[in-house]
Amino acid sequence: MSLNLPGEPPFTLLRYGMPADKDIIADPAIKALYDAIVIPAHILAFFHEALPAFLYGLEKPYIVDPMTYMYQSVRSYSDEWGTRRSARKLAEAYGGEFARMVAEAAESHGTDVQGEGRSAEGSGEQRTLRLLNPENILASLGRGCVVFQDEVVADVVRRLVGRYVAVSRTLPTPAVLLAPYFYFKSVRDPWYAACVTLQGAALDEAQRRGTQILPVICTQVACLEEAFQREALLADCGRWPADVVVLWLNGFSQSGAQEPQIRALADFVGELHAQHKKQTLMLYGGYMCMLMTGNGLAGVSHGMLYGEHKEVRRLPPGGPPPDRYYFPLFHDFRKMSHAVRIMQEVDSPVDLMCECPICSEVLAGDPRNLPLMWRTAALKRHFLQARNNEKEATRGTALPEALDALRVTYERYNDTVRAIPNPDTRDLQFLPDLEYLRKWATALSAP
Ligand SMILES: [Zn+2]
Repeated sequence: MSLNLPGEPPFTLLRYGMPADKDIIADPAIKALYDAIVIPAHILAFFHEALPAFLYGLEKPYIVDPMTYMYQSVRSYSDEWGTRRSARKLAEAYGGEFARMVAEAAESHGTDVQGEGRSAEGSGEQRTLRLLNPENILASLGRGCVVFQDEVVADVVRRLVGRYVAVSRTLPTPAVLLAPYFYFKSVRDPWYAACVTLQGAALDEAQRRGTQILPVICTQVACLEEAFQREALLADCGRWPADVVVLWLNGFSQSGAQEPQIRALADFVGELHAQHKKQTLMLYGGYMCMLMTGNGLAGVSHGMLYGEHKEVRRLPPGGPPPDRYYFPLFHDFRKMSHAVRIMQEVDSPVDLMCECPICSEVLAGDPRNLPLMWRTAALKRHFLQARNNEKEATRGTALPEALDALRVTYERYNDTVRAIPNPDTRDLQFLPDLEYLRKWATALSAP
């Protein structure tokens, strides 16, 4: 399979978020729990020596997310906020006519107030479409993106270690390349046409290098629910010479997804496999997607306490992700304040306890000790253990059995959890319920 990873699906790919994660990612006990690292290209361009050196020492497979959707909004590279500096640096690294275009657009944006309204949907996006859409710009971006992914890490390492490169180590190269991509709302969206041209240029360059490159589909789930759109995407993916397709559904959250949406995703994954022998890798996903392994899912990528879904437009929030405890039985995170209440209120909270090495040590067999887990590093390590257990279980369990387990958890805990007052609100509100578990089970057991 062209993810070039050892083992069996579902694979779990850990998305690199911040330098503080490095100690956890490189911990020998943790390294066994994930299959590969996903590095966002703008972070790689920004920390241009530190990250390649880290990957060199890590010796785990990695892939680079080209992050090209950022350039659909001028704001993301010309504002005072957000990803401005790293997006500019990445454009320079991609080089060529694309880099010149971004530099000019960012310059003129300062005085061009009409250029981009407050809404990313409005005039600003039409302007970036005009800026990016000439074929020479798309060709430049497609080519630059492939060269960057294929060479940057090895180039930096070669420069850093010089002739002292240890014989036991090989220069790091990505497990596989990802095609650059734009977000499109439907196959009639002009961004889809631009994306197809862009990916074609990247494919040409990858083929010249004899390297595998995977297409990336970045759209909304509604696109998979409509027959003509689904068919168009299936046909385009079918023509692509790789046996894995990467998919990002905008803001598609596991706990918020409706049954027809879950069904549409499972069907799309299944059709890609049945019609074209291709597997699907979710760029942002969690356990619900892992349940689609039998349909043809290759794996999921996610961050450490976040990133099981992501919205395309939202600029990254400042600061670290919130502290959240992953309940293995709920297959989801809960804020620590909520998690502590849940352990206090449910009958037999011992049954909700995790048996991973971190939890065994910190909780010492008593669920009332959960507040002691309120340390980000412990929460991350516990989550990665829990995710690995889910992966092992998915490999060894038939789907009907896994869905039955979801129903049992729902029946047992939903009424209690949804009656617990939310400790963080002034008005009387209750904790989020477990309806999503019932929805997953129903949607995925439909004939
Ligand atoms: Zn644990």
